[in-house]
Amino acid sequence: MLRKVLYIDLSSRESWIEERLDLFEDWMGGTGVGIKLLQEECPAGTDPLSPQAPIILSIGPLNGFFPVATKTVATFKSPLTGELGESYAGGRLSLALRFAGHEAVVIRGRAERPAYISINDADVKVKDATSIWGIDAQTTGVILREHETGVGRRSIIRIGPAGEKLVRFAGVVVDTYRHFGRLGLGAVFGSKMLKALVVSGTEHADVPDARRYREVYSRLYSTVVKTDVMEKYHDIGTSVNINVLNWLKGLPTKNFLLSSFSEGEKISGEMFADNYLFRRLSCAGCPIGCVHIAALKSAFSTHHEFELRKVSYDYEPIYSLGSNLGVSTAEGILRLIDVCERMGMDVMSAGVVLSWATEAMERGLITTKETLDIPFQWNNVEGYSRALESIVRPPNEFYSALAMGVDYASTKYGGREFAMALGKNEVSGYHTGPASIVGQLVGVRHSHLDNAGYSIDQKAAKRSMDPEMMVDEIIKEDNSRGVFNSLVGCLFARGVYTEENIIDALGAVGITKTKDDLQSLGRRIFEEKYKFKIQEGFDLSHAHIPKRFYETVSTLGIVAPETVEEMLRQYKKKRGWEPG
Ligand code: SF4
Repeated sequence: MLRKVLYIDLSSRESWIEERLDLFEDWMGGTGVGIKLLQEECPAGTDPLSPQAPIILSIGPLNGFFPVATKTVATFKSPLTGELGESYAGGRLSLALRFAGHEAVVIRGRAERPAYISINDADVKVKDATSIWGIDAQTTGVILREHETGVGRRSIIRIGPAGEKLVRFAGVVVDTYRHFGRLGLGAVFGSKMLKALVVSGTEHADVPDARRYREVYSRLYSTVVKTDVMEKYHDIGTSVNINVLNWLKGLPTKNFLLSSFSEGEKISGEMFADNYLFRRLSCAGCPIGCVHIAALKSAFSTHHEFELRKVSYDYEPIYSLGSNLGVSTAEGILRLIDVCERMGMDVMSAGVVLSWATEAMERGLITTKETLDIPFQWNNVEGYSRALESIVRPPNEFYSALAMGVDYASTKYGGREFAMALGKNEVSGYHTGPASIVGQLVGVRHSHLDNAGYSIDQKAAKRSMDPEMMVDEIIKEDNSRGVFNSLVGCLFARGVYTEENIIDALGAVGITKTKDDLQSLGRRIFEEKYKFKIQEGFDLSHAHIPKRFYETVSTLGIVAPETVEEMLRQYKKKRGWEPG
């Protein structure tokens, strides 16, 4: 198997390839290799928006070989949190990198003028992007699709105006409707004057034993398509959780003032599927097709002239731009998602920033003087839409502060107790109980996907779990996801990739690992990431937890601060960071 790293320096426009067997043998691929390259490339205290800050894209040994091993991980220093930046995207990128022969790409430096990178196998070119700078992310994709060769095993990733303007939660749009959404990778692209990256490949990927490979492939494929392990993702998709969490009192509503939305039925996954679903799409190499696309009809003249926009939706955007803003129509939510998509902005952060600002206005911390007459009010889709555009092109200090994220804005204007961020990252859509809070706080990228604390809370709703048991589950998930994210699989398929199946799949591509090897790898990856976080100033003992978490009833009732404190104490003890 090819184990190469492609290095690209935007300042000198040079590129070269290095065989890094050492790196891949010790750290497998994906996030394991990503964190080690970040340590090599990003000295302590580097400004995340400086030419010295690297962008690292990496895939793992199963990508391109097995079903649902479809993701690429981006590793960088986050301009939102100032520490570890890590984001995952599907689409065609991992397949394109596999067939171009690069398991990792490191991008350094800063281009003199707007540029995009074109990678075709070993051929790398830095091309002029002046004419597409300022253009929205979707149109940029259409233009590059027409101008670049390599149809098929090709991927196009690009930023929109939010990335160019260094909005700290700008994302990168990947192919059609996939994203490196979280933690501001789009702003890092923008700081390098890097509008896009196009990857295409024609190489072959061989396996050492075709018969064994076919046997393992068929087994995994059958589990994906013939069992119910992944069924829910195809049918309604993750938005099926809107009704479920609403009933469970776990659906954040109006900036977490409530945990259920009286109008939840109107924005449920079932409602979207019945009235707006247009088609489903899959990442390359996945038979599931969980990407749900809605058709949004907009009138653009009074004479019944309509434009049809296609907008992807799932659970998190419906929470962040729906219930959490009190938006009670599917159409209103789709309009807001569409603005974020065009601007190239993370929907979760954008929604939480707007929900904080709405409450801040209700409480008189800000007025129409700051908002320039936009009334920040629950369910005001038109106002929110204008506000999102103003965040990208800030007309005053207030919108500039919003573009820095909710932690920064609340430090400047007040309302820290209801600024819903953990580790400075705007929180995801779960108010299920203490494991969700602790999980996001201790998680390496402060994401619900680091250790799925929300699902541990839901287990605790069915059978009693004390704080120590919850912490054990969080640590187990932290470590095992480090392994799975080194492969780099779609987390929706984690039920398919049991430890035994991972060992078999690795064996089929010529990599021998034992259970102990995998468990040790998971622990080591976690530790390396924490080393980077601490080096860049993250301090778990002093991390801010908004009071709001303790005020609103959750799936497990009101969360007591003492429970969270006890879980954090247990967590530090079990990690060996503090004596018991
Ligand atoms: S389940 Fe969905 S997100 Fe995961 S690989 Fe398949 S299509 Fe992509």
